[in-house]
Amino acid sequence: MTASYPNTQLLIANEWVDAASGKTLDVINPATGQPIGKVAHAGKEDLDRALAAAQKGFEAWRFTPAHERAALMRKAAGLVRERANEIAPLLTQEQGKPLAEARIEVVAAADIIEWFADEGRRVYGRIVPSRNLAAQSLVIKEPVGPVAAFTPWNFPINQVVRKLGAALAAGCSFLVKAPEETPASPAALIKAFVDAGVPAGVVGLVFGDPAEISSYLIPHPVIRKITFTGSTPVGKQLAAMAGQHMKRATMELGGHAPVIVADDADIALAVKAAGAAKFRNAGQVCISPTRFLVHNSIKAEFTAALVKHAQGLKVGDGLAEGTSMGPLANSRRLTAMANVVQDARAKGAKVVAGGERIGSEGNFFAPTVLDDVPLDASVFNDEPFGPVAAIRGFDTLEDAIAEANRLPFGLSSYAYTRSIKNAHLLSQRIEAGMVWINQPATPTPEMPFGGVKDSGYGSEGGPEAIEAYLNTKSVTIMAA
Ligand code: NAD
Repeated sequence: MTASYPNTQLLIANEWVDAASGKTLDVINPATGQPIGKVAHAGKEDLDRALAAAQKGFEAWRFTPAHERAALMRKAAGLVRERANEIAPLLTQEQGKPLAEARIEVVAAADIIEWFADEGRRVYGRIVPSRNLAAQSLVIKEPVGPVAAFTPWNFPINQVVRKLGAALAAGCSFLVKAPEETPASPAALIKAFVDAGVPAGVVGLVFGDPAEISSYLIPHPVIRKITFTGSTPVGKQLAAMAGQHMKRATMELGGHAPVIVADDADIALAVKAAGAAKFRNAGQVCISPTRFLVHNSIKAEFTAALVKHAQGLKVGDGLAEGTSMGPLANSRRLTAMANVVQDARAKGAKVVAGGERIGSEGNFFAPTVLDDVPLDASVFNDEPFGPVAAIRGFDTLEDAIAEANRLPFGLSSYAYTRSIKNAHLLSQRIEAGMVWINQPATPTPEMPFGGVKDSGYGSEGGPEAIEAYLNTKSVTIMAA
C-alpha cells in the first residue's frame, strides 16, 4: 500500500500556520528511515500568540453551556470516526505501528471524546446543609483554566485525546505540544475539533523544542494546569517546575509492569493475552507487560509457548498486508533494545527468541524473549519500552508480589490465576495504579488510568480525569 503524507503546521486561534521563523523539522518514516514530510517548529513569537488564543478560547469555552460543549465534542468525535481510514495511514507512516492498530487507535479516540462529552454534562456541585437557615452553602465546580499538554510519540492520538477530552469536558482550553516525530495524526485529531466548530483558541497545537516549549509554557501566567505523558525523569522535571509555579499537574509516566503467572494459571490464556499485549506497538507502551514472573512448576511450558508466539509474529512495514509488528518508532529505541539484550546476556540471561535487529533499513527489531533473567539485568530494572519479554521463575506468590513491588514504578500490572483467592490477594497487594487479571490491558475511558510511585499521579480516565481539570469553589450566600 502507498499513502500520502502531509506537512504539519501549527494551530493558533483556529488557523493553520507555519512558524513565524519558517523553521521546520523533518519527519522520518521508521519503516524506511526516509523523510516523508515536515513539521513547523514554533518559537517564542508563535507560543505567545498561542497563549493569547488559549486565554481567549478559555473565556469563550468556559461560558459555553456544558450541553453545547458536549454537542460540539460529539460532532468532533463523529468526524474522527468518519476520517479513520484517512488518519490511520498517517499514524502508521510516522510511528510505525500496523495499520490495523493505527485504525483502532483512531476509532478509540472517537469513543474517548464521546465518553468525556457526556461525562462533562454531569459535572455536578452540591448544596450543603447550612448552619444558618438564612444562608445557602454551595460547592461549585469550575474549569481550572488554559491547559498546557505535552504528549509523546508512542500513541500520538491516544495520548492527546485522553487529555483533550477531559480538559474540554471540564470547560478548559487546551494547548498541546504534540510529538515532533509523529505530528500529522495528532494534527488530524485536533482538526476534527476545529472543523466541528469549537471557538478559536479552545484548541491549539504546537511543535518545536520540547524543553524550550515546556520551560516557557509551564511558568506562563496564562497556563493554569500542566499535563504530561512521557518518561519518569522528564516528568519529575516538569512536575518540579509546575510546583515551583503552583500549577496543577497530572503526570502519566513510565512503568515496568509485572506479569505474575501463578501455578494454577490458564497458560494458553496467559501467553495469548500477555503475548499480544507485550508486542503490541512493538512494546512501546507505558502499560506493556515487561517483567514476566512465572511459577517455576510451569515456567518451561510458559516460556516455550511465549517463544512460539513471538516467532509467529510477522514483522514489517505497518502499511503492508499481514504485518503484526511494525518497526520501532525511532532509532533511539533500536540502540536501547540492542543494549538491553547485550546487558542481559552478559549477566547470564538466555536469549530464547529474537535478540537482534532485522535488516539494515528501518528500525526493525525481532520480538525477543529472555529467560532466567537475573535481577540485576537492566531489563528487570529500567523500563525497556520495546519488544522484549523478560522471564524469571518464582516459588511462592509472596516472592512474586515482593518482586512486583520492588521497583519504584507502579503503573500497570497483570496476573494469571484460576483462583479467586489469589486474584483477590494480588489485586490488594500489587502496588500499581492498574491491575488486570486473566486478560490483557483493556483501558476504557470510564475506568481510571494512571500510576502510583514514580509512575506519576492523577488519572486519565473515569470521572477522576475530569476532576483534574476542575477547581472547587465554596460559596455561601446569606439572604440579605
Ligand atoms: P525522552 O525521555 O527525552 O522523551 C520522552 C517524551 O517526553 C517525548 O515525547 C519528548 O518529546 C518529551 N520531552 C522530553 N523532554 C521534555 C521537556 N523538557 N519538556 C517537555 N517534553 C519533553 O526520550 P524518548 O527517547 O522520546 O523516550 C524515552 C523513554 O521515554 C522511553 O524509554 C519511555 O520510558 C519513555 N516514554 C514513555 C511514554 C509513555 O507513554 N509513558 C511515551 C514515550 C516515551
